[in-house]
Amino acid sequence: MITWRSIARTFQRHHAPFRAQVRQLSLLEQHSHKLLQEFKLPVPPGFLVTTPEQAKQVVSVINGPSVIKAQVLAGGRGKGRFSSDGQSGVRRVESPNEAFRNATNMLGYYLTTAQTPQDGLKVDKLYIYKAVSIAQEFYFAMTFDRQHTAPVLLISSSGGTNIESNVDKLHKLYFGLSTGITDEIDAYIQAELGLSDSEMKDIHQILVQMLKLFKEKDATLLELNPLVRSEEGEFVCLDAKFGFDNTARYRQEELFGLEERSPEQEEERRLAELGLNYVRLEGNIGNIVNGAGLAMATNDLISLYGGKSANFLDVGGTTTKQALSKAFGILKKDERVKGILINIYGGIVRCDMIAEAIVSAAAETGGFKCPVVVRLQGTNSEKGLKLIKQSGLDNLVVEPEFEKAAQRIVKETPSVE
Ligand code: GDP
Ligand code: MN
Repeated sequence: MITWRSIARTFQRHHAPFRAQVRQLSLLEQHSHKLLQEFKLPVPPGFLVTTPEQAKQVVSVINGPSVIKAQVLAGGRGKGRFSSDGQSGVRRVESPNEAFRNATNMLGYYLTTAQTPQDGLKVDKLYIYKAVSIAQEFYFAMTFDRQHTAPVLLISSSGGTNIESNVDKLHKLYFGLSTGITDEIDAYIQAELGLSDSEMKDIHQILVQMLKLFKEKDATLLELNPLVRSEEGEFVCLDAKFGFDNTARYRQEELFGLEERSPEQEEERRLAELGLNYVRLEGNIGNIVNGAGLAMATNDLISLYGGKSANFLDVGGTTTKQALSKAFGILKKDERVKGILINIYGGIVRCDMIAEAIVSAAAETGGFKCPVVVRLQGTNSEKGLKLIKQSGLDNLVVEPEFEKAAQRIVKETPSVE
């Protein structure tokens, strides 16, 4: 069966830039740190802040060099760029005042990394801890190798933000969930990483705890990167990534309760509850359409004429005033939307009814501030278009032909520089 969502996915695949639709559990740092702590894995004690004043205060309590990290559900922050000052999402600060200044340039701004959408993700929380002086960065991960249907350890002595370009330096070790971290595994790791006996003792403990977490929490991925050896000779995990089996959702209620949805995911979920199908895209033309096929065709025509859609928004078969009000509300809140195309096919519901719904929903949500092109097709479409023309609503134009309607909205929408 062709579902609406599968069409949206296909569209996204073919029309770059892409937006990853990851449905794995994502955890923000404050939660992943808690989870690591619960399993006695060493993490620096951190503080979550939401204002520059709090950032300043935390760093004055830490009383030394500190690290400030943007809390977003995407990696690559250390190499990311903020919309404010072009600096990254992981920053070292030396003083409370420097913390204040940096937090001011992070909170409320967008961070773009290799793993975020082009426009980045908005940052409204920061995580701060005392800076660790790093002697060496390691990469330690535990996951399932599907080909071998066995759990595997991935280890590297060149961890950190360049791990992708160092994959050839990864050591791969298969192990058994019940046999665990054996002497053989320890011996191999110690030799490959060149660790002293006492260092290896610490690493063994870390691996044992990693495995415990992995098993008890139904993880499919547990990645510590970087796990660092500090100048003082202690091992500390500075960043971690988790993957959990979605089917474990019911067994791991507490864990999934911590799940953080991105604002976009949250929006999609809310809308689905209202019977609206919504997927955010990267452009500036908002579309309100009924039916998946029409949504697809509309987006295609818009790109054909050089425009870019900001979303899919399928109001569903009945196209009620209620659904349209919701749809208008969403597009209004989306600052990127600079033009709207309403493209409705009146099948079961007559076009004059739909026109009435459009007009009253528009009036209810306070009219339109950007150009809106309406195209109605089907039973009573002429009557419907006439109703809209006569409504006296600002910025609203009607265009009975599909191609012309798409062309027109592309022309009317101010292009983004
Ligand atoms: P990511 O870029 O989103 O994966 O963020 P990470 O939390 O992994 O941080 C990126 C990099 O910042 C790490 O690989 C470290 O090199 C560096 N970093 C993070 N915390 C500290 C710290 O306490 N001290 C130092 N010297 N570097 C740090
Ligand atoms: Mn990292």
